[in-house]
Amino acid sequence: MERFDVNSCNRVSDWLRSSVKKIVIIPHVNPDGDAIGSSLGLNDILLNAGFESHVIVPNDFPTYLNWLGSDGIPLIYEHDTAKCNLLIDQADTLFFLDFNDLKRLGKIEAYLRANQTPVILIDHHPDPQIKAEYQFSDTDVSSTAELVYDFIEAVGLLKHIGTIGANALLAGIIADTGSFSHNAFRHSTYRIAGELINRGAEKERINESLFNNFSEKRMRLLGYCLSEKMEVFPQYRSALIWLTTKELKQYDFHPGDIEGFVNYPLSINGVVFSAFFMEKNGVVKVSFRSKGSFSTNEFSGAHFNGGGHRNASGGEIKLPMAEAVALFKSLLPDYAFKLAQS
Ligand code: 5GP
Ligand code: MN
Repeated sequence: MERFDVNSCNRVSDWLRSSVKKIVIIPHVNPDGDAIGSSLGLNDILLNAGFESHVIVPNDFPTYLNWLGSDGIPLIYEHDTAKCNLLIDQADTLFFLDFNDLKRLGKIEAYLRANQTPVILIDHHPDPQIKAEYQFSDTDVSSTAELVYDFIEAVGLLKHIGTIGANALLAGIIADTGSFSHNAFRHSTYRIAGELINRGAEKERINESLFNNFSEKRMRLLGYCLSEKMEVFPQYRSALIWLTTKELKQYDFHPGDIEGFVNYPLSINGVVFSAFFMEKNGVVKVSFRSKGSFSTNEFSGAHFNGGGHRNASGGEIKLPMAEAVALFKSLLPDYAFKLAQS
């Protein structure tokens, strides 16, 4: 409750009770565990509370998250565009979850630009650039899923959390914190995780599905990355792994397979900044992670058209892989001081 001001909670609460009948929930493109978990969790709670609610994700997501949804939940915009557009047109409230800029909506962006439907934004990224009727944005939180729990509590809908909602929200928290290993130092995260377990969340099942559910090829791809493709730059306390489309094909790549690869170099003593580059649809998609004060979102925003959080960010650049890699290496000397301080 303390996280949000009481007035806006009361107004949202009144809003939900009065005019709202049809809700559409939308998370960011290339949705990860937190985007999917927070959206499906909120959706289930709203359905239980008697609202008509749908989740529309911009594009495909990793199959190991499928069990958090069910038939037709969520809808995928790229596969079901006409139906999704109709639901967006009919909605009287949109929830935007886990992103701070419409640019993060992939193909939905163009359709939503002209949309005037009231938006409730729930997010934990810095500097939201979205015009929202109600904004619940807090960077001091482990995950959007945790913020959704706060929101649900603040607007008096807690009693509608069942096993599906509890599993989805706890999966979001566990995914964004790497099972409580990063950005998970606040009491509130554990209190909420405990509440979700009380309401039926299955922690073991979530852990198994998120972390112990990969193909043999994915494991070998990880081995290949670490033994053949990781470059370490000790003088800059940094490391880089990069993969071409050809290499991805060789290892029968599926979305989600490279989830977490970018974190591995950070377990090398002295490395505080890790980058992972991958060819995707004609661009190089980049991921950055850091330990300590080094702002990967500033680095990503300044050089790779991206953003995110201080210690976890991403972006993309339209360059051949060799040039993207050369650019990254050429930038490190400029950041030597900040990297030494991190
Ligand atoms: P990941 O490296 O797991 O793809 O993303 C890490 C974080 O960076 C996430 O919080 C995500 O929201 C953000 N992020 C990833 N890709 C992009 C991007 O292309 N643009 C922006 N602004 N943020 C991104
Ligand atoms: Mn998140």
